[in-house]
Amino acid sequence: MSTNHHTITAKIAATTLAAMLLTASLAGCGNTVEGERTTHDGGAAGTTTAAITTRPQTPPVEADPHVHQLGDWAITAEMSCTQNRLLECSCACGYVEKAVVPTEGHQMKDGVCTECGRTESQGLRFVEVEGGYELAGIGACKDQVNLIVPAYHNGKPVVGLADDLFALTEMRLNSITLPETLIYIGKNVLSQCFDLTYVVIPDGVIRIGEGAFNGCAELQSVSLSASVAEIGVDAFGGCYNLRSITVDESNPTYFAAGNCLIKRSTKTLVQGCHGSVIPDDGSVNVIGENAFSFDGVIEQLTVPGSILSISAEAFMISDVQSVKISDGVRSIGTKAFWHCRELRTVTLPASLEKIESEAFFYCKSLEYMIYEGTMEQWYRMEVAYDWAANGSEFTVYCTDGSFTVNNY
Ligand SMILES: [Zn+2]
Ligand SMILES: [Zn+2]
Repeated sequence: MSTNHHTITAKIAATTLAAMLLTASLAGCGNTVEGERTTHDGGAAGTTTAAITTRPQTPPVEADPHVHQLGDWAITAEMSCTQNRLLECSCACGYVEKAVVPTEGHQMKDGVCTECGRTESQGLRFVEVEGGYELAGIGACKDQVNLIVPAYHNGKPVVGLADDLFALTEMRLNSITLPETLIYIGKNVLSQCFDLTYVVIPDGVIRIGEGAFNGCAELQSVSLSASVAEIGVDAFGGCYNLRSITVDESNPTYFAAGNCLIKRSTKTLVQGCHGSVIPDDGSVNVIGENAFSFDGVIEQLTVPGSILSISAEAFMISDVQSVKISDGVRSIGTKAFWHCRELRTVTLPASLEKIESEAFFYCKSLEYMIYEGTMEQWYRMEVAYDWAANGSEFTVYCTDGSFTVNNY
């Protein structure tokens, strides 16, 4: 340890800029200072114990970082009317990468599939609504694995799926084929239908209700038509196995890029999935609330600099292991990386202006963060006092010094 190496152990609030600048300037005088600073709100939980070093320290360099050597793709399931094409390739370390080519489902014409000859399901229960019928229940229907919803009932079009239709039922629904007469899909319609593997939303559907496909743990692909104009909150949340999101290119409201669902008007990424690549061409500015939360493994996440803000809960309870947030990003919202227990390393840009409450709460594996600005820039930033509460002890490496965060 050199003679100009100063260490201060101070109880400070990360948001207390004045106190920080004071301790930082004391550190520059050549003495070791022990000090106590209380938080602005006085809460013990809101304190950060920081050991500050003004001498630049560099983050650990991982000697020989493993890069997966992936072999050729092998087809593990061939495509059919009720099955996506599934592919896999693997690395010698055991890592397996999967990909999905979505099926277009049955090609229904006059009640018969032109591909496989299957006919519309019989015996379903309908209720009359404005403009036709709404599918309201399974009724006496025997097709409880692969359901084909008829286009007409009693000579009138089937226009909707009732709220909570098949949510949490005992049915082992593997696929549901929706008719082109459909206009809306209600709330929680297929919520937690654990065996559903794909969904094709036909042209004509305008609204997909909130939670419609929430928690469909085996859902691999979502294909949206040109007419979809309204997608409710968490419509595709908690779909751990989702790997393919597509939207018809002529849809004026939404588009898909890099397996991300994006709302055009607000440039908001509303739903991501496995293997999503966040577009960096300026077509997305905001990562929306819960866009990637409750997702499975995204080992390495790069947030491009064309993103301005990461919304609340965006990556909450995801299995992300390392995050690089590129220069340009300005804010990280409340609980954005809440409970990311696999998260080890984070790179934060100097462009960052704000880290909100519990953004990195309970990130128990965090080892270090690299902040691409100076110590002074860090302390000028608006950082919530509990931004990294209940996590591990980790180091933040700035360009001209480092400090540890230890906030239990
Ligand atoms: Zn590997
Ligand atoms: Zn078919």
